Amino acid sequence: MGEIYNVIIIGSGPAGFTAAVYAARANLKPLLFEGLAKGGQPGGQLMLTTDVENYPGFPQGILGPELMDLFRKQAARFGTELIQQDVTAVDFSKRPFKVVSDGKDYSAQSVILSTGASANWLNIPSEKALQGHGVSACATCDGFFFKGKEVLVIGGGDSAVEEANFLTKFATKVTIVHRREALRASKIMQDRAFANKKIDFIWDSEIQEIKDPSQKKVTAVVLKNLKTGARSEKKTDGVFMAIGHTPNSELFKGQIDLDVKGYIQVRDGTLTSVPGIFACGDVQDFKYRQAVTAAGSGCMAALDAERFLESAHV
Ligand code: NAP
Repeated sequence: MGEIYNVIIIGSGPAGFTAAVYAARANLKPLLFEGLAKGGQPGGQLMLTTDVENYPGFPQGILGPELMDLFRKQAARFGTELIQQDVTAVDFSKRPFKVVSDGKDYSAQSVILSTGASANWLNIPSEKALQGHGVSACATCDGFFFKGKEVLVIGGGDSAVEEANFLTKFATKVTIVHRREALRASKIMQDRAFANKKIDFIWDSEIQEIKDPSQKKVTAVVLKNLKTGARSEKKTDGVFMAIGHTPNSELFKGQIDLDVKGYIQVRDGTLTSVPGIFACGDVQDFKYRQAVTAAGSGCMAALDAERFLESAHV
């Protein structure tokens, strides 16, 4: 058998890299799989944002990709081994655990899972071209840039309503576009939205197109009423998607406990259902979903792994 790592970290967002910094500084010589763009998003969701103004320590703000580059450099500085490959299979049934990547087996006494979550998108052509230019999946990250402007929020769940309420702090008007005529959001959140004079609703409708990629900014959307089939255009400065997230946990199905939506179940911080396997960041958190909370949980996972290795006398 080849080398047995103390810790293998899967995922290269704020959670994974922070876990790597802590594990490396604890002399655990971690190996981190960064992933490839085809699987998830190496560097995590911050690679899809422009300015990050709410990560502490950067009073002038920083671009998402730049911030992730700094995370990566800091992990590498302390000796984390980085592999730019997707993990294709895992076996957590016995220790040492097995992680497979690019057809090769890797063994580890503990594994930290930080594969994140991906925002769901509508998958219409103009959406991708305008990401970071008026189309966003994170009101907390990008709402500030819409001071004095009008925006749309797509979706009808708690996230849509919460983001719409949040956006009214900046935007002059927020319109929630929902594909049905009733919100899915909890009653209390609904009441808050209905009471907010800055929030409007467009029911039974879907977005067919976002204009205007040629101007590199959002100017309007084309809507289709799903009941009547009627198409219309609505002017707007921004479009916020809030149609749910999907945790990147497919790989771990059947190996550790996931909740009904696929989020990894953790207890006492970052412990999963298998001793020695830890989870941090958005793959286990549908509530906070912030870079700083992901980084915090990455630190926790590394400390938990360190304690586990000590108690297991590895
Ligand atoms: P969600 O509850 O799954 O709601 C997603 C919404 O997007 C639904 O209204 C859905 O429409 C709509 N949708 C899905 N795919 C769509 C598509 N392709 N086109 C148009 N609309 C689409 O997701 P979420 O709002 O992100 O919430 C996720 C979980 O986090 C929930 O359990 C929620 O309660 C929780 N959460 C809680 C809070 C809080 O308590 N403060 C805040 C945020 C989230 P349909 O309704 O027609 O299915």
